[in-house]
Amino acid sequence: MKILSSPVQLEHRPLKVMLRGELVTPFESAERLDVLTSGLARDGHELEVPPDCALDPVFGVHDQSYIDFLRRAYGEWRKLPDASPEVRPNTHHYREAFRPGQPAGRPSAASIVGQAGWFVSDLNCAIGEGTWSAVEASVRCAIHGATRILDGEASIYAACRPPGHHAYRDQAAGFCFLNNAAVAADMLAASYGRVAVIDFDTHHGDGTQSIFYDRSDVFFGSVHTDPSSYYPFYIGHADEQGTGEGEGFNLNIPLSPGTDDSGFVEACAALAKAVVAKGCKALVLSVGWDAHGGDPLSVLKVTDDGYGRIGELFGKLGLPTLIVQEGGYSLDVISTAPGRFLSAFCSSHAL
Ligand SMILES: [Zn+2]
Repeated sequence: MKILSSPVQLEHRPLKVMLRGELVTPFESAERLDVLTSGLARDGHELEVPPDCALDPVFGVHDQSYIDFLRRAYGEWRKLPDASPEVRPNTHHYREAFRPGQPAGRPSAASIVGQAGWFVSDLNCAIGEGTWSAVEASVRCAIHGATRILDGEASIYAACRPPGHHAYRDQAAGFCFLNNAAVAADMLAASYGRVAVIDFDTHHGDGTQSIFYDRSDVFFGSVHTDPSSYYPFYIGHADEQGTGEGEGFNLNIPLSPGTDDSGFVEACAALAKAVVAKGCKALVLSVGWDAHGGDPLSVLKVTDDGYGRIGELFGKLGLPTLIVQEGGYSLDVISTAPGRFLSAFCSSHAL
């Protein structure tokens, strides 16, 4: 399979993220991408750098004001007296803050500190000198991947970094800035009529759910750790099934801590069944390797064998498939699990 990746994605080098009240070395490192791509190349998959392309598809799922912020945040921040070497908000907007008769209180573009608190929802999305370039390169992998699917390629892997599934329409969250999978799904839905995004990262794809929650042209299904006591905490429950036109087009399968291959594969089988039942004509897989028992953030016990089994399961759907890289933080796991998944996927996939 072709693996789309760009060296520019390595330029995002966050210095610190927040973990239980302490600023620590980020789990989401540039090294992850090197380990992923070199492992897949070793398995015989072919690496390809996507060409530069217009970012227009991004605006299908993100607000212009948010993109403007991401582009200029680092430069503006560095002009502040005694500014830190990366943008990390020291305030956040309040749920009940609004000005009468106006949309909730977005700060003016002149206040980069206020804007950082508005557009960046946590302390795990530091914006440094190379962040925007990497974010742009990452979403270009997804855009080019979707273009190739539209041109007739049966399947392709967008090795996106930074990841995307926690990014909302106008907010960064959980290591994510632009929602790569959502941008691609939006492109594919315009041609295929209805597509699916299936997310098996161990964290609920809250950004993706939010973007498509009122749409019936993109079915979103996710298996993940129960958010009652796990990131992203606020959404990802089984009773969230979509709204308006999107009612019935959102399916969450939260798993209890300790769930192993059997529960994980069973949940993925239910998601695959729903893709068929909803009549989806193409598939975007948001793949994360952090449900693996060896991942430092995991409370599940999935193994390489489990990833192989779900590779076969999604391959057998026989749909045009764009695979989009999300999380996975153990370098050991990243060097083996994606290969097991892809090998099984490729063996079973036929259009
Ligand atoms: Zn994750």
